[in-house]
Amino acid sequence: MRAEPNIIITGTPGVGKTTHAEALAERTGLRHVSVNEVVKDKGCHEGWDEEFKSWIVDEDKLLDALEEDNVKAGGCIIDWHGCEIFPESWIDLVVVLRVDSSTLYDRLSARKYPEAKLQENLDSEIMEVLLQEARDSYDEQMVVELTSNSTDEMDSNVDRIEAWIKQWKQDQAGDGEE
Ligand code: ADP
Repeated sequence: MRAEPNIIITGTPGVGKTTHAEALAERTGLRHVSVNEVVKDKGCHEGWDEEFKSWIVDEDKLLDALEEDNVKAGGCIIDWHGCEIFPESWIDLVVVLRVDSSTLYDRLSARKYPEAKLQENLDSEIMEVLLQEARDSYDEQMVVELTSNSTDEMDSNVDRIEAWIKQWKQDQAGDGEE
């Protein structure tokens, strides 16, 4: 049993995962686990894909690294553009961030993504690939879809997730007393 929940913030690159995770970590004291950083720092990859300018992730190594880091003990905000590799028993809430195509286009262009990578990510957002992955991998009650087009939406998302964390802790404390 965890004293603090584990929350995945997922979605297409550029939706606002890192911005949300950092704001939430600051507000709640939970730990921001940037999976991209883990992949890079712990070498959980099979090399660099030059066309897509991204690491080719070795999922077994990644899961081992997260296990070593004791993520399953709780208190983590896991920030990654995927969610199916984590065992369901590790996770308490999956937040899928969504964004309009034109906004995503602007954010990914600002990042100077190569054309093929930009197009793939726009398609992925339109096809709801990450939302579907979350729904396929977790109980439907654990998956929440939130929009992240504006700072107002982000503020309200962070408020909402913070409230969810408080409620989760209260529920856990209540369960312990029974
Ligand atoms: P991700 O981690 O999903 O790739 P980031 O958090 O890095 O996305 O956000 C990508 C860019 O979009 C950043 O410049 C960030 O400031 C901006 N951004 C993210 N979410 C919002 C939002 N809800 N409103 C306005 N700008 C946002």
